[in-house]
Amino acid sequence: MLDKSEYLHPDKECLSREEIEALQLKRLKETVKHCYDNNEFYKKKFEELGITPDDIKTLADVCKLPFTTKQDLRDHYPFGLACVPLEKCTRLHSSSGTTGNPTVILHSQKDIDEWANAVARCLHMVGLRPGDVFQNSSGYGMFTGGLGFQNGAERLGMLTVPAAAGNSLRQIKFIRDFGTTAIHAVPSYLTRLKEVMDQEGVDPRRDTKLKVFAIGAEPHSEEQRKRIEDMFGVKAYNSFGMSEMCGPGVGFECKEQNGLHFWEDYYIVEIVDPVTLEPVPDGEIGELILTTINREAMPLLRYRTRDLTRVLGRTCPCGRNHVRIDRMKGRSDDMMVLKGVNIFPIQIEKILMQFKELASNYLITLTTDDDNDNMTVEVEIEDLFTDDYQRLQKLQKDVTRALKDEILLTPRVKLVPKGSLPTSDGKAVRVVDKRKVYQ
Ligand code: ADP
Ligand code: ZN
Repeated sequence: MLDKSEYLHPDKECLSREEIEALQLKRLKETVKHCYDNNEFYKKKFEELGITPDDIKTLADVCKLPFTTKQDLRDHYPFGLACVPLEKCTRLHSSSGTTGNPTVILHSQKDIDEWANAVARCLHMVGLRPGDVFQNSSGYGMFTGGLGFQNGAERLGMLTVPAAAGNSLRQIKFIRDFGTTAIHAVPSYLTRLKEVMDQEGVDPRRDTKLKVFAIGAEPHSEEQRKRIEDMFGVKAYNSFGMSEMCGPGVGFECKEQNGLHFWEDYYIVEIVDPVTLEPVPDGEIGELILTTINREAMPLLRYRTRDLTRVLGRTCPCGRNHVRIDRMKGRSDDMMVLKGVNIFPIQIEKILMQFKELASNYLITLTTDDDNDNMTVEVEIEDLFTDDYQRLQKLQKDVTRALKDEILLTPRVKLVPKGSLPTSDGKAVRVVDKRKVYQ
């Protein structure tokens, strides 16, 4: 057990397993009653299942509750899942809605406060304190990574720079002028930022005070994290969030970097088989299901995140017993099925990152050629190698073989000059599917 000053909320962070579960049961009962008493959608679902809040007697009874999905949020857009009158709400966030009705999450002032506390706890956990300068390089507006980190970093008492996404030259100027010690950004953006630093002759070790990155909002491999840490000489901590669960602050790595601690005083975490929806044992991969137990305006019961991961453990050398969850393997909807083989983009990334000759940006394109489905992996190479054709040929062969060993299919590998693939300020687009769909 570390010194109490290592924890922002020792009374919550240092609970034993029994204490965590007792608190969860108390909060679950309150949440369930609140949903049943104050929302027609939930009441109807309970009636269909023949249950009432009194049926929740133990934590295991969470399995009796109905699942909630993104489709439910869409069908009851915008405020159908609210459990308090609109006058009690002070903020809403919404997804982009590119694939249908957007989803909306309403927050009361208490929800916003608790969310800020959760994010502050995460940032404190990785060593940030008042006196640090926190630059938030994620989009603001409806995207929860903006205001979510802003409020959490301010709550911790850091000088917080709402830099927002993009404009790398300006980011670098802020980092140097304001003495930024910590940045939150999507991992793919940090590799882009480093390219611009290189072009500008800025050495992060020599010319900046950076010491901590919070990276998240998109899947990334352990290899990608290590790369980012080596490029900058900065520790990078995985940050998991989703707008339906408020946003950032749901799960965050501690200094041990051995999985994400999900805050169990805020959420009940289940991992289930995505087909049978039955719980899977610890260590087995399944779909992450989250129930909010510390939210009043729009609690979500057993929300199906579609993210695939597993439980790594329930203790940690850092002294926190909040469940440790593995980095996300991907979303069930990101999975590519090529010639009957299931492949996640992160598997490809993991292999590419093992070649130091390759840069960090890559794009997977699926096509149908002569009625055959194929995968092309384009990956940028470090400038040093562009003129050595023999070496490039060998590299291309080696990368192809390594990918085949991982995914059991032979992709076409194209090595392309650094800077030639599209980049994004937000979440990276890793897969383009141009296959013909046969009806
Ligand atoms: P946010 O606005 O917080 O990014 P979204 O609702 O847009 O939330 O996206 C949430 C999704 O982003 C998650 O369900 C997950 O698929 C992905 N995601 C977020 N953080 C991570 C992370 N650290 N690792 C992998 N995937 C992540
Ligand atoms: Zn820990």
